[in-house]
Amino acid sequence: MPVRHEPLELRTIFEFRIARGGKSVQRNTLVRFTHEGIEGLGEAAPSRYYGESPETVAVALDAWAPAIGDDPFALEAIHARCTATLAGHDAAHAALEMALYDWQGKKLGMPVWKMLGLDRAQTPVSCVTLGMAEQAEMLAKLETVKAFPAIKVKLGGPGDVENLRRVRAHYDGRIQVDANAAWDAASAVRVLHEIAPLRIELVEQPVAREDLDGLAFVRARSPIPVFADESCHHLADIARLAGRVDGVNLKLMKTGGIREALRMIHAARAHGMQVMLGSMVESSLALSAAAQLAPLADYLDLDGHWLIADDPFAGAPGEQGGIALSDAPGLGVTPAVAGSRA
Ligand code: MG
Repeated sequence: MPVRHEPLELRTIFEFRIARGGKSVQRNTLVRFTHEGIEGLGEAAPSRYYGESPETVAVALDAWAPAIGDDPFALEAIHARCTATLAGHDAAHAALEMALYDWQGKKLGMPVWKMLGLDRAQTPVSCVTLGMAEQAEMLAKLETVKAFPAIKVKLGGPGDVENLRRVRAHYDGRIQVDANAAWDAASAVRVLHEIAPLRIELVEQPVAREDLDGLAFVRARSPIPVFADESCHHLADIARLAGRVDGVNLKLMKTGGIREALRMIHAARAHGMQVMLGSMVESSLALSAAAQLAPLADYLDLDGHWLIADDPFAGAPGEQGGIALSDAPGLGVTPAVAGSRA
């Protein structure tokens, strides 16, 4: 089999908590695709919230392996064969497609962003996410990210507005907030008016993911631009969200890979929507895959490597929100030098 996979366990520096729960260990999957002596790497960050786990990722990769065929450049045909075998499984699909792109770039001696025709000079900086925390822990976390030009604060829990006020008092950079579907539409409007004086750049997913009319209700009344995250997975979601939100947060683990994300970016532009590229708790491998599309985004949230204690890879994400697309072939990812991160 040209496709192998193994567990990739990542430990977060702080427990990563959002409106629907917290965790300090993320169980991802590393994918290795080998062909003609070249190895392409991919990473899946499965989310139970979206129905995936390391176990389902393994099942999907094993099911797809015989359908890859002998031309790793034929992504359209590979996707068609894989989907005919087993549909869905977006995080697994993203990992496989990532490995194929990495392989292609290594074969051609070219970085993926260049294969896609993009201009790395257009890459915005990334924000870093602060998970929910008690006051003392939040201020300790804030100390670690003060040099970042932008942060994303998770809301939707008890005391969240007070917490945000404290963050603003200690941080002068750009602040985005994310409610992770925690509010109803009326509460969202109330909270957004309350926090607007804190200079909030945008709010992600104020209401439940299926509540598209709620998103429209909030957007019509919100003093802060509204972005969809949990409500936005695939191309067809862009059409459903058009006119209801100001922008979308696209993550490879939701779209199923770079190609679908690319289609969604262009569709969102056609509808006058802004684009954020986001991430799950991921190593620099998956983050570097998303970063290949970064020149097309207005906002980046490719910060997962900053949240984990033991990033096994080095790639595009750098220090303090900097995303550097290199000339290294493929995804531009190398094994991390042990002990390079405190
Ligand atoms: Mg979000």
